[in-house]
Amino acid sequence: MAGMISPPAAIAFIGLGKMGVPMAARLIGAGFTLRGWDLAPPARVAASAAGIPLGASAAEACRDAAAVITMLPDGKAVRAALEDPAVVAALTAETLVIDMSSSDPLGTRALHAALAARGIALIDAPVSGGVSRAIDGTLAIMAGGEGAAIDRAEALFAAMGKHIFRCGPPGAGHAMKALNNYVSAAGLVAAIEAVAVGARFGLDAATMVDVLNASTGRNNATEVKLKQHILSGGFGSGFSIGLMAKDLATAGALAEAIGVEAPLAAEMARRWRAAAADLGAAADHTAIARLILPQA
Ligand code: NAD
Repeated sequence: MAGMISPPAAIAFIGLGKMGVPMAARLIGAGFTLRGWDLAPPARVAASAAGIPLGASAAEACRDAAAVITMLPDGKAVRAALEDPAVVAALTAETLVIDMSSSDPLGTRALHAALAARGIALIDAPVSGGVSRAIDGTLAIMAGGEGAAIDRAEALFAAMGKHIFRCGPPGAGHAMKALNNYVSAAGLVAAIEAVAVGARFGLDAATMVDVLNASTGRNNATEVKLKQHILSGGFGSGFSIGLMAKDLATAGALAEAIGVEAPLAAEMARRWRAAAADLGAAADHTAIARLILPQA
């Protein structure tokens, strides 16, 4: 297997949405030679305006790249991108494929095996931290795959993330990510419901958040979402409700597939699917508060 991928190695970055653009920009800042691609013309225009060089096609971006990074909505989109015959022809045994999307872990295992049969290494390396930490290069990165393949990606991960975890074999990063988002989403709903009850009782919502943050009820939602994106009425965290519903479905399906009882995960999958249907998949995920807090 080839060695560590270091600047100025050529990197294909497929999926230039809310996360992809700032992550690609971090790689450029670290000295890598970037060629981006996105299926959607408006995303290509926005990425180009943000200083991301584009390939003429996905395959052209991938040709001779040391690594192909995918940052797409889900595992289905990742498979669609990597199964494009022109992309298939551009990947070689030297290419390291890194799926940084929040994909489903069982699909990732299958994709890993399919690529391995062609001599191509795949690692899963989903992220947490959102758009602001993508911009800062301080994402949490949860890697799954063979150790030697993860070693090759170290300089890439160092450019985009602050906490790099080796979670286990192929799919382990994606399993960890879905479970993280389950905990995160459940904490957000719990905090919003608490504010709904407290407000009806006569408590001040902002004071409630202050108390939670100084007490054992503190969580990521109380710290960085309730005041900033919900009580402010901004609903602008940059993570859509459709993607959150997808992650919750992944976590619920994973528990079911491996035969573990997880009734709260199943309830969260149901609740977020209904919220995404109600508000539209493109709405910010913090807008779920609109269905719980009458005044939001
Ligand atoms: P996004 O919808 O803003 O971007 C996804 C991009 O992928 C879009 O521009 C879309 O046109 C493109 N795309 C879809 N199919 C494609 C294909 N076959 N080939 C090329 N491009 C294609 O999504 P995002 O918020 O950037 O999230 C990307 C991934 O990261 C998701 O899996 C999401 O769950 C995860 N994630 C998002 C956040 C966040 O805060 N936004 C945080 C952590 C993880």
